[in-house]
Amino acid sequence: MKAGGHVRRWSLALEAFHATVGGPILESPEEVVVGPVRIPSTLKDEYVDGRMLRIRYPPVRMGGIPLVSIAELDANPATAAKFTGKAVFVGVTAQASGDSRITPYSNTEPVPGIEINASEYETIARGMFLVDARWLEVALFCLLLAGATGTVFGLISGSRPDWIANTAAGAIILTSQILPAAAFLESTVWPWLPGTLTAVFAVALAVRRALLTAENERTRYQKAMQFVTHEMRTPLTAIQGSSELISRYGQMPEAKRKQMAEMINAESKRLARMIETFLSVERLSAGQMELKQERFGLADLVSACVLRAQAYAERKEIQILVEHLPDCELQGDRELMEYAVYNLLTNAVKYSPQRTRVTVMGEDDKGDRVRLSVHDQGIGMDQKEVRRIFEKFYRTRTAEQSGELGTGIGLSIVEQIVTQHGGTIQVESEPGKGSCFTLVLKRAI
Ligand code: ADP
Repeated sequence: MKAGGHVRRWSLALEAFHATVGGPILESPEEVVVGPVRIPSTLKDEYVDGRMLRIRYPPVRMGGIPLVSIAELDANPATAAKFTGKAVFVGVTAQASGDSRITPYSNTEPVPGIEINASEYETIARGMFLVDARWLEVALFCLLLAGATGTVFGLISGSRPDWIANTAAGAIILTSQILPAAAFLESTVWPWLPGTLTAVFAVALAVRRALLTAENERTRYQKAMQFVTHEMRTPLTAIQGSSELISRYGQMPEAKRKQMAEMINAESKRLARMIETFLSVERLSAGQMELKQERFGLADLVSACVLRAQAYAERKEIQILVEHLPDCELQGDRELMEYAVYNLLTNAVKYSPQRTRVTVMGEDDKGDRVRLSVHDQGIGMDQKEVRRIFEKFYRTRTAEQSGELGTGIGLSIVEQIVTQHGGTIQVESEPGKGSCFTLVLKRAI
């Protein structure tokens, strides 16, 4: 239907079809009903837009609309028999008439207007209507594409080979292309752009995330290697140096030789203990190991750690004070607990300026709990940083700038050890003022 100047007219094809089937032409906003045929065509603005109908041009390879010229009829009137039982459109087909249009099938030559009308008639008579896909369906399809991309890439992230990710990406983009084509074969005009954009963006985002994760894993691995080389190098250097001296100087005084042998022994034990601790924590957190269940005194544990940290603290002229420790026993793996407390102490020393004080304090807590806190007057941290310090390899900016070596792995291990022992760890800190790490631990029963 065309509309203009408050006049509306049905298209020639519709009028022709109406003439063949009779009856009324019924209208609703969504369709026009003529005889047995319901024509899906939405009315936008009655006197402005009229109604649209997509024409299905009968494919040329199937003969298209048969054309019979007047000259042919004149020469051979029997040709008129071809018209029996058919609707016939009569019009001018010459290009020069000006009544022609380019259609999707018209290659280079415009199609005469009369043939277009006939094609529209065919579309109506055969009920071969092309309808728009509903926007809700299109939106749902886009959501599905995005969801599928997220799921597929989530599942294959990590160590799977690249070709799986590539195939998945290809399959998702292909789906976004196939659906509009498949829908068209089912007479639905499915917009191509939304699905294509969704697929391309979703895949691009997923690939970007995968690349970032890979990058993260690489840096984590590098940091772990840094840690191993840094932490293990000190004892190894001592062992190497001492053993070289012993083998080079055969005539070494007995006392000196003994001292070196002891040093080698102590350092290799330290190395073994370090390796043991990391393996234990890894196994514990993987659920492959049960915690040892020893009983040990809190005061004992603390004094052993303070003793070990003392040498380090003296270098910075930092005083470690132990204030009041309740007389109680803990239960668990003493070696791991020692690692945890020692780590808090060395961190307190490491992240404090010279000639300050580190205070260790214990107090009873509610029920069967005891609190052990390590307080320092060091560089401190803000709340945002506090929330992240238990992540593996995280270091605050001030810590990095302090020039103190570290890997950001210690506290993540401390937290695992403490939680494996049924305890918790709390942190209070203020930039420039100092920090207080408190372990809330279960007493042995
Ligand atoms: P590392 O000391 O090797 O960097 P940790 O896991 O022990 O690793 O600590 C993580 C980060 O937490 C440190 O890099 C530092 O930024 C911060 N941190 C830990 N203890 C303290 C402390 N007592 N004072 C200030 N910052 C601390």
